[in-house]
Amino acid sequence: MSASLSPAFVNGDVSFWYRAAGLPTPGPRLGGDLQADVAVVGAGYTGLWTAYYLKRARPSLQVVVLEQEFAGFGASGRNGGWLTGDLAGSHERYGEDARRLQRAMYASIDEVIAVCEKESIDCDLVKGGVMNVARTPAQAGRLRETVAVARSWGIEEPDLHLVDPADHVRVSGALTASWSPHCARIQPAKLAQGLARAVRDLGVPIYERTPVTEITPHRALTPYGTVSAGHVIRATEGFTARLRGSRRQWLPMNSSMIVTEPLPASFWDEVGWRGAELLGDMAHYYMYAQRTADDRIAFGGRGRPYLYGSRVDARGHTHEWTVDALWRLLTDFFPAARSSSVAHAWSGVLGVPRDWCSTVHVDPATGLGWAGGYTGHGVTTTNLAGRTLRDLILGEESELTSLPWVGRRVRPWEPEPLRWLGVHTMYRLYRLADHRERTMPRTSALARFADLITGH
Ligand SMILES: Cc1cc2nc3c(=O)[nH]c(=O)nc-3n(C[C@H](O)[C@H](O)[C@H](O)COP(=O)(O)OP(=O)(O)OC[C@H]3O[C@@H](n4cnc5c(N)ncnc54)[C@H](O)[C@@H]3O)c2cc1C
Repeated sequence: MSASLSPAFVNGDVSFWYRAAGLPTPGPRLGGDLQADVAVVGAGYTGLWTAYYLKRARPSLQVVVLEQEFAGFGASGRNGGWLTGDLAGSHERYGEDARRLQRAMYASIDEVIAVCEKESIDCDLVKGGVMNVARTPAQAGRLRETVAVARSWGIEEPDLHLVDPADHVRVSGALTASWSPHCARIQPAKLAQGLARAVRDLGVPIYERTPVTEITPHRALTPYGTVSAGHVIRATEGFTARLRGSRRQWLPMNSSMIVTEPLPASFWDEVGWRGAELLGDMAHYYMYAQRTADDRIAFGGRGRPYLYGSRVDARGHTHEWTVDALWRLLTDFFPAARSSSVAHAWSGVLGVPRDWCSTVHVDPATGLGWAGGYTGHGVTTTNLAGRTLRDLILGEESELTSLPWVGRRVRPWEPEPLRWLGVHTMYRLYRLADHRERTMPRTSALARFADLITGH
């Protein structure tokens, strides 16, 4: 089935979130060589939170942000809007102290909410919780296992528990679901733009249309001048592979979204989606969705997962095949949505480390630092990263600097063509596994094999 496209359908152009909020006019470029205390490369949430917290802690510090396009151009202006408490990757890989990291993630949601209030950032934020639904017996088994494993990591009943999906959002074919209150809905571009405004108001210049071509100790090089700084922080996530010396660190993984035209009140009543709760599923080729403030469904999932040589398709144009696949899945979840149509489709890139777990790091010797590898969980984690980078840069030992994701060493991805082959094989196997699980009681061995080859 082909997607039903609205007459006003737009493909790419960064994201629907900017169509709704207005694409910003990029600010000034860097105008020559500059000295600073801290140079931040990349004006997504990571770079913006870092600049924000540094400047709030030490107003006298000279902080500059260098951005290749405009603030919020990357995943931060394109994501599904889940301000989620979920950690990237598995708890075991962070070690015993993962419990503390998990609590810090939950607290970070409230911290983002508090800053939005303090800085008057209106980003349609509502903390409405999240439901993950299982639609096959195999998915239901995985869901129960996920909840049981979460318990062993100190995630208590009120944090995550099984529910009857009919009591929350009535997804067609749903067998069971989990519920967590630790998730808020946001409009991603509004958060990025609001944060950029707050950062500028604190006196931090954001030099836009200023690509950094190389990062070396105490230096960020651009075609318009070099910034020399005590610390240079790389906050480039899915774009990192384009920087010399970082090509195999984080794999740029694609994620794609569609958004419907606004749906009538009768639709929301029929499916019981009453508030701003987020919706996900337990498929290997998983989906994520939100009800937007103007009553659309924004629905995301995997598109073409990875482009050979870690290339990035910058403005978010999305393959027709992906738009059709997302529409088929959306209308399979909600048959009543067939009366609507797709208003916009777009894509963006996540940063995926070899072990699928995030890292934050500052090397005092070289002044180089970075945070990322959020694998699709960055909306909340970037806030924790910004506060942690602040403490690491200021040389202050704190509760945050002792969290187990600080200074983790992760092996790089394999060189091409192995990298391309591995990722494409993984996604082919996941698709096949989802298909087989329609008639199987248990998780398909194909999915376990896919996890094994890519370290997922
Ligand atoms: C479609 C999609 C859906 C997602 N959904 C969710 C979700 O619902 N919840 C969630 O938690 N996470 C989600 N994510 C992931 C989340 O958006 C990211 O983890 C998060 O935004 C990362 O923020 P960042 O600042 O580290 O990176 P980015 O937002 O990608 O910012 C990096 C910035 O660096 C700039 N840059 C890159 N290279 C250079 C250079 N050489 N010189 C200068 N500037 C440079 C880029 O232009 C960009 O602005 C999603 C991602 C995508 C793509």
